[in-house]
Amino acid sequence: MRASRSPRAARPRGGDWPGCHVAHGAAPWILGLQDLQSAGFESEDLPDISIDPEDKVLSVFNSTEEERCYCLSLAAAARGRAPLHHSGASSKPTNSAKSSHRGSIKEIIAFVLVLPAKSVMDVCKLRGPAAKDVLTLELQSDIVTLQPPPPLLAGFSYGFPLAGGPFLCSQGHGGKLTHFAHPSTFYALDFDCPVGTAVLAMEDGTVTEVRQSDTVSGIDVRNFFKWNQVTVKQSDGTWAEYVHVEANSAQVGVGSQVRRGQVLARSGDVGFCPTAHLHVELHLSDEPKAPSVPFGFRTAQGEFRCEEGKWYAAEGECERGAAPEHAACVFFGQVRSCSVAKFGPSHEATSNAHP
Ligand SMILES: [Zn+2]
Repeated sequence: MRASRSPRAARPRGGDWPGCHVAHGAAPWILGLQDLQSAGFESEDLPDISIDPEDKVLSVFNSTEEERCYCLSLAAAARGRAPLHHSGASSKPTNSAKSSHRGSIKEIIAFVLVLPAKSVMDVCKLRGPAAKDVLTLELQSDIVTLQPPPPLLAGFSYGFPLAGGPFLCSQGHGGKLTHFAHPSTFYALDFDCPVGTAVLAMEDGTVTEVRQSDTVSGIDVRNFFKWNQVTVKQSDGTWAEYVHVEANSAQVGVGSQVRRGQVLARSGDVGFCPTAHLHVELHLSDEPKAPSVPFGFRTAQGEFRCEEGKWYAAEGECERGAAPEHAACVFFGQVRSCSVAKFGPSHEATSNAHP
C-alpha cells in the first residue's frame, strides 16, 4: 500500500529542543510530504501512524479536512531491557536532578509533526533492534487538530517569574514545539532554568491550585498529561500558571495570599520537558481550556516582552547567559544509540547550536 515517496535526501535536522524533531509541514530532514491523492492513497480507513514492515519507514497520515499535529515518542526497545514504565521516561542524563526520580530512565526520541489536511508524511526510517521487530517498538502518540490562535490582547505586565538568571526563552508565542496547537498555551513562555531555581509570583494574588506530586520528566508523549503547577489568581483578575515545578517544592498552599516576588516553588522539569524550564501562562478565566493571554514584564525603566531564543532576567533582555545545566551533548550521546536512523549528523549539529 506504500506509495512512492520523495527521493529527497533526508538531511537530518533536530529541532531546537534536545531530542525533539519538529516538522511543521515539509522540513529538510523528513523523507517526504505529499497529499494523499498524489501519493495514491484512498483517504478512507487509513491509519494515523504506520511503520512499513518491509522498508521500516515511519509514516503519519492525516485523512481529515483539518491541519493536525502528531506528537510521537519512540523508546529504544531493545529486547532484554526493562520495560518502559509510565512514570520513568527521561531524556536526561542520570546526574543532577535525577536523584529525585524514582522511575526508570529510558532513551527517548520525540517528533512533533504538523500535517496539512489530507496528507501523508514519511518521517524517517527505523533501524536497529526495533526495526527487526517493529512490535517491540515502544511508540507513544498524541494527535490533535490545530486551533487558531486566541486574540492578541494587550496591557498585561508583571514581575519576572524567576530569581537570578539570565534565562533563555526557549519557547515563545506560538512556539513550534508545544505552544502552537491550542489557544490555552499559545501565549505561554518557557524559560530554561536549572532545576531548583526559585519561581516567583509575578503579581500579588491568591493561590488557587498547587499540583506537585508528579515526578515524570523527559520527552515521552505520555508526559503531556502529567505535570506540576502552581496557579495564582492575581489582583488584576487574571490567573497565572507556573508549570513543571519540582515535586513537593511548593512554598505556598491553596488559599495563600502572595505578594509579587514571593517564592512560590522551585522550578523543575516535570512533564514533557526537553530541558528543565518554567512554563508560564496567563488566562482571563480559570476554565481548563481558557485561551492564553500575552503578557510582558515590568521594570523600573518600563516594560519588556520576551522572544524565543533571547535571554532575560528581571531587568530585561540580557547578554547570552552561561550554558544551562542540561548537557545536550550527553543527551545526544544517548539518542545516538537509539534505533531511529538518519538523525546522527543532525544531533551533532543541533548540540552545537544548543548552548
Ligand atoms: Zn511551554
